[in-house]
Amino acid sequence: MSAPRFIPGHEPPARGREDAYVFAAQGLELLVEEREGVLSIPKGAAVPELAQAGHFIGTLDGVDCYAAPYPKGQEPPAGMQLMAARGLFQKVDEVLLAVAGRSLAIAEWDITHRFCGRDGTPTELVPGERARRCPVCHTPFYPRISPAVIVLITRGDTMLLARSSNFPMPFFSTLAGFVEPGESLEEAVVREVKEEVGVDLQNVRYFGSQPWPFGRSLMVGYTAEYASGEVKVDGKEIVEAQWFTVDNLPRIPPRLSIARHLIDSFIERVKGRAGPSSNS
Ligand SMILES: [Zn+2]
Repeated sequence: MSAPRFIPGHEPPARGREDAYVFAAQGLELLVEEREGVLSIPKGAAVPELAQAGHFIGTLDGVDCYAAPYPKGQEPPAGMQLMAARGLFQKVDEVLLAVAGRSLAIAEWDITHRFCGRDGTPTELVPGERARRCPVCHTPFYPRISPAVIVLITRGDTMLLARSSNFPMPFFSTLAGFVEPGESLEEAVVREVKEEVGVDLQNVRYFGSQPWPFGRSLMVGYTAEYASGEVKVDGKEIVEAQWFTVDNLPRIPPRLSIARHLIDSFIERVKGRAGPSSNS
């Protein structure tokens, strides 16, 4: 087994930051260098102030990584640009994408918790922890993670995919929504599906999870079977929902997303059953 390429950490090493990667984020945009169509993450030598202000997040292929908020209104240095982090999906590998996502969340936490929400006092970094703390009332502020559920609904050899009004491009995906306070993950699955497409579920089963820092959430994936009810979209979040067979798929989400993993796993299951190796 090969060693993981990214090793997370909190404590910045004593060495200089000239050769470190600096993941500078502003909202959901990341500072990138682009040379002849090839994207790269700037090194500390090119952006020394950002490197100095950065939070150590770990090492990628042995190189130190820092995450820093990119100041609003500041022009990117020559040869660099702020790029929507979602745009990285088709251009970088899974590990770099995950580190970029982590950086967005750390930069956002740093910039949005400079002051205590209780009494307005400037907060201080807590050594050895990813936290800021108010020196007056001692309230700690950690990076915010909002759990969300995402579910693939199947009925025989078909799956229910929906088109959201929020998608920038028209494509069909699994249903998803944020978990409400006081709710279990499974309850959130059942409620979201009922609200958005009007059907009841059975056999709700855990599938896997994926950090989704582009929406500052943790996506918790489920599969479920249709139980009853007629598909009726809410018309607000979901504008269209249909049952699709694996041979008749619409445009689906990009690779690397958990929505795509859910859809791909169902396709494999159906095709595996129909394949020549299947005897049952
Ligand atoms: Zn306070």
